[in-house]
Amino acid sequence: MPDFRPADSFRSPRFAQPATFMRLPHTRELPGLDAALLGIPFDGGTSYRTGSRFGPRDIRQNSSLIRPYNPVLQVSPFDVLRVADVGDVDVNPINIEDTYGRVEQAVVDVLNAGVVPVCVGGDHSLSLPILRAVNRKHGPVGMVHFDSHQDMWEEYFGNKYFHGTPFRRAVEEKLLDTKRVIQIGIRGPVYADSDFDFARKHGIRWVTAPQVAQEGLDWIREQMLVVRGGPVYLSFDIDGVDPAFAPGTGTPEVGGLTSREALELVRALVGVQLVGADVVEVSPPYDQAGITSMLAANILFEILSVMAATRLQQRQDSRRSTGKP
Ligand code: MN
Ligand code: MN
Repeated sequence: MPDFRPADSFRSPRFAQPATFMRLPHTRELPGLDAALLGIPFDGGTSYRTGSRFGPRDIRQNSSLIRPYNPVLQVSPFDVLRVADVGDVDVNPINIEDTYGRVEQAVVDVLNAGVVPVCVGGDHSLSLPILRAVNRKHGPVGMVHFDSHQDMWEEYFGNKYFHGTPFRRAVEEKLLDTKRVIQIGIRGPVYADSDFDFARKHGIRWVTAPQVAQEGLDWIREQMLVVRGGPVYLSFDIDGVDPAFAPGTGTPEVGGLTSREALELVRALVGVQLVGADVVEVSPPYDQAGITSMLAANILFEILSVMAATRLQQRQDSRRSTGKP
């Protein structure tokens, strides 16, 4: 088994060699991994600014400075988990339903190898085929969903599938345990108050961006506890963060989370059983100086850190319960 660690930056400078996520090894061999970084360069579900098809490449490019130890969570994820960059799904750039089939199969392959998929978009329409795959393995899952939008609209120009509908479809297809779902960062003008009716009807909880400011992070961490009690999926639409910090995205909404709040809230997931994750909607053509891709890369690092810290916690708990040192 090769060593799954980022390249040593004292031997190979950070700007050298083909870009993989955090300069991790690239492999298509899934068995033996704990987590796989999977790019999905598809933006055919976008309704406004396109360009997120270039997200995976740009996020890899902007991940090369991230160092391997997380001093906040006090964990070095690559000491705990074997993580590789498994490349991209070869999507069909002009057909969303064909792409959905390809994405679902790729994620099923990852899950069947006992590996946690950490997906990089691509637009948010992709969360639906990922969740379909996750559901085949785990049944209905809880979800933490960062976004300025609920993505629970009914349709767009007669299409059931685009980046504004994935979670309505996911609820209809019973992919989610709706009691264990929370959306964070919701804001911006909608068409009417009735846009929230679907979420209300299905008992979906959401925290608005103004509430983040008014109630504070501790209150939100408390709200996030609802996802506990089973497997959880994390979906992070980068437009949950304010366009001042994340301008490179398809449908920006002002008045959002700061990058610091976003990182803090992802860290709050230590102890949660994450069975999959995505970071989506980074559109490099609208980015400035790589700041959106850099944030996305750091959110991915925090997700891996959370998985590693959770694994360490579980080891400690089982040692305690067995009484073994
Ligand atoms: Mn959004
Ligand atoms: Mn979204």
